[in-house]
Amino acid sequence: MNQNSFRSIQISGFGFWLTLLAIVWLLSSIGLGWLVKSVFVLIGIILLMPVVAFLGFRWWLKRNLVIDRCPVCGYESAGINNTQLRCPSCSEPLKVEHKHFHRLTPPGTVDVDAIDVTVKQIED
Ligand SMILES: [Zn+2]
Repeated sequence: MNQNSFRSIQISGFGFWLTLLAIVWLLSSIGLGWLVKSVFVLIGIILLMPVVAFLGFRWWLKRNLVIDRCPVCGYESAGINNTQLRCPSCSEPLKVEHKHFHRLTPPGTVDVDAIDVTVKQIED
């Protein structure tokens, strides 16, 4: 099913290039070489686009990829800056902020720190 639709896209793509070639040949034959040149420049830009996008994505990933340890269990994992993720080890919801993982407490939850209670022994 999926392969069939992929194949039809490939065939229509080939037809597109054939049509384009015919148009280019027609235009150059009636002396519109400059138009053909500008079209080739455009095609060059279109072909370069994925490369530029890939390099841009890599640059962005380098800037935004955060590798830190889970504050709950200490498991090291990677996340994208300013996104939320779940720790793969303890499945604690975490938020990536300022190049570090922070615990994501659901709204309304009060995080209580344990207070050191000194036990006084009553002597008799
Ligand atoms: Zn964890």
